[in-house]
Amino acid sequence: MTLDLPEPVAEQGLPPSVQIVEVGPRDGLQNEKASIPAAVKLEFIDRLGAAGLRTIEATSFVNPAWVPQLADATEVFTGLGKRPGVRYPVLVPNLRGLQGALAAGATEIAVFASATRTFAEKNLASSLDGQFDMFAPVIEQALAAGLTVRGYLSMCYGDPWEGRVPVDQVVAAGRRLLDLGCGELSLGDTIGVGTAGQVTALLAAFAAAGVTNDRLAVHFHDTYGQALSNTMAALRAGVSTVDAAAGGLGGCPFAKSATGNLATEDLVWLLTGLGIEHGVDLDALVRTSVWMAGQLGRPSPSAVVRALAGSGDGS
Ligand code: MG
Repeated sequence: MTLDLPEPVAEQGLPPSVQIVEVGPRDGLQNEKASIPAAVKLEFIDRLGAAGLRTIEATSFVNPAWVPQLADATEVFTGLGKRPGVRYPVLVPNLRGLQGALAAGATEIAVFASATRTFAEKNLASSLDGQFDMFAPVIEQALAAGLTVRGYLSMCYGDPWEGRVPVDQVVAAGRRLLDLGCGELSLGDTIGVGTAGQVTALLAAFAAAGVTNDRLAVHFHDTYGQALSNTMAALRAGVSTVDAAAGGLGGCPFAKSATGNLATEDLVWLLTGLGIEHGVDLDALVRTSVWMAGQLGRPSPSAVVRALAGSGDGS
């Protein structure tokens, strides 16, 4: 494989560096049909660290009855060869999950809330307000144990049952997560329907509500090919934490599309071209995603992976 990189041409006003939150091992594999052995997950996470990713969401301490793909959370987290300088947050849905995460030695957790009533009901079996009552003791106990907590907010740009989601409703839900003690809020376009103008408007609304960019992250899905365009809008608004999944792992559970999260490779290509520091070795990352595609038995949907590695049949 020969690797070319885009010529860096800076644009005024963008963040000088971006922190990539790699969500492939959790968000990605959780939404893949294939079940991956723990040993393969551990190699995947290790290779992501070796490729320079500094925040890798490792797994989720969710009830295995809900998400059988992540039933090996303890085995994966305790088996990690943790690299110095790399953070390994885990998703925690409830107090039971927090106990599992603490027992496994996690130091960073994330909770997952919904900006819409219907998704809160379907995903969390809770009302829109009730989900915050559910998360409050989880966040409180995590903070008391010295953990940091990230809050995910899903359906920020559209909901498959409710359609458009009012900006004020998203800001109100996001503020509640921050007020409960989340250090960072990741704004998710769970079904990938958002477009750049919406991103600009939503981030402006958060700024108007007094939420500073250092507490915000963006989380896009490429269902309609808008993930990079939306990321660019977020960078222009000053957000410098971007979630992505190596190889674009993760289907979209509510759309008839195999296209998942923003691919980390696509993000790295954009950032490199803009001269924005990211710390990732794209060559190593592409080889990792080609290898993982082989494990999953399907090619990566990432345009950058395909361009650099062809259809890919191993590493
Ligand atoms: Mg996602």
